[in-house]
Amino acid sequence: MPNPLYDALFAPLKTRDSAFLILPDGSTISGAAFHAMCARVAGALRGLGLEPGDRMAVQVEKSPEALALYGGAVMAGVVFLPLNTAYTPDEVAYFLGDAGAKLLLADGAKAAALAPVAERCGTRLMVLNADGSGSFAEAMAGAPEAAAVERGSEDLAALLYTSGTTGRSKGAMLSQRNLLSNAEVLVDHWQFSDRDVLLHALPIFHTHGLFVATNTLLAAGGTLILLPRLDIDALIHWMPRATSLMGVPTFYTRLLDDPRFTRDLVAHMRLFISGSAPLLAETHIAFEDRTGHRILERYGMTETNMNTSNPYDGERRAGTVGLPLPGVEVKVTDPDTGATLPRGEIGILEVRGPNVFQGYWQMPEKTAAELRADGFFITGDLGRIDTDGYVTIVGRQKDLIIAGGYNIYPKEIELELDEAPGVKESAVIGVPHPDLGEGVLGVIVPLPGETPDTAAILKDLGARLARFKVPRALVLVADLPRNTMGKVQKNLLRDAFKDWFK
Ligand code: ATP
Ligand code: MG
Repeated sequence: MPNPLYDALFAPLKTRDSAFLILPDGSTISGAAFHAMCARVAGALRGLGLEPGDRMAVQVEKSPEALALYGGAVMAGVVFLPLNTAYTPDEVAYFLGDAGAKLLLADGAKAAALAPVAERCGTRLMVLNADGSGSFAEAMAGAPEAAAVERGSEDLAALLYTSGTTGRSKGAMLSQRNLLSNAEVLVDHWQFSDRDVLLHALPIFHTHGLFVATNTLLAAGGTLILLPRLDIDALIHWMPRATSLMGVPTFYTRLLDDPRFTRDLVAHMRLFISGSAPLLAETHIAFEDRTGHRILERYGMTETNMNTSNPYDGERRAGTVGLPLPGVEVKVTDPDTGATLPRGEIGILEVRGPNVFQGYWQMPEKTAAELRADGFFITGDLGRIDTDGYVTIVGRQKDLIIAGGYNIYPKEIELELDEAPGVKESAVIGVPHPDLGEGVLGVIVPLPGETPDTAAILKDLGARLARFKVPRALVLVADLPRNTMGKVQKNLLRDAFKDWFK
């Protein structure tokens, strides 16, 4: 019976004796053993009465079993709904209620706190611990290995919620075709093969670690070194066994901070990929200086998987997210009229392709507002396309500052501030201002032990930027608020400084 995502990604594991997973203690799990785990998950789900199309929410620590939940869901036709392990029970309640999840799998340590929430939502709660124990593990042990059910390309494989960086998380409906088409393109574009061993230290509740990393390596027949989280000691320890690494920018800045991360350590590596948040050109350059490798930066989102990528062969241009992937169209449009803008002009990035999702779960109005009838998805990211096709992201539409009627792109000012003496990093936001509507505020993190001279920085900026772009004030903070994917949470900053100009 056809089940395209299973057939392409998981079925080949069934006859694979070689390791699919390498675990932190050095032990391995063969492809066949992992396939059997997935089939048991599918058997257990069926035993619990889950039907194809039902939603299964999962908030568990990263482990081989946790990854097998995804494979088992695909086999059973159950819609996979992974949740950030940092979400509180109240937050989980929103997702369970919104998605109408039939089953919630959680760590034993959190089960007591989640029980009332699950009950309120009419969701069955079962336990899966990181060590492979718990009531769901027992259900798996007692279940037969189920065969994959029949599914079509248009059937939903996952309900993946966005990170909630700009507001409440939205459930993106991803079909089998959305996931599979992207995995196939990425294998080809990044030249993954069955000889590849990916250092996997990303969370598996987000599109980056779950779909980009896992699906691509599954489609290529490669191997994962499955590390529970970002741990620089472990990355350095395992680097000699790997051929490739996928990470958020924090992976690369933290590796560069470590003197053990040397050219020799990574001489054998094939590929370093970055995404989920902007990689500073400075990091790209420092990385090349240290290692001789150019990080390959790509751009994607929960709703679309991957949209653009720097080339494998060809120029990997620092500060850009590269070119549209094969099969993906990207255009830049005027935020007010929707008209396509000429190359070089800044506007909203819109994307179309087999990777673009089916809409937001139970949000027909939001779906209609962001997904055009002709198939283009209005990403909400601001960017431009250069004459030679490279895409540059300058920020999010929601972070655009409108001060005194002028549009101000925070990134332009942040790039200047980051270069200023004593500054480690910065975030520029707009907050209410009595005269201007919004006033530009620069939030600065100093380099360790330094106190940047904010008056001197502002004076210097005034000489280089148009007056309306120069921040009205600069404030120093110890850290920028970031979520697990390394994204700066500007909504929290706007909230914290909302009264600054009042
Ligand atoms: P929400 O939609 O709930 O506000 P989110 O957009 O942060 O959250 P994700 O889908 O995890 O949720 O993130 C996608 C976003 O991440 C993109 O829209 C873009 O803003 C950003 N992004 C991804 N890759 C890059 C990159 N290489 N450079 C800059 N930004 C990136
Ligand atoms: Mg988003």
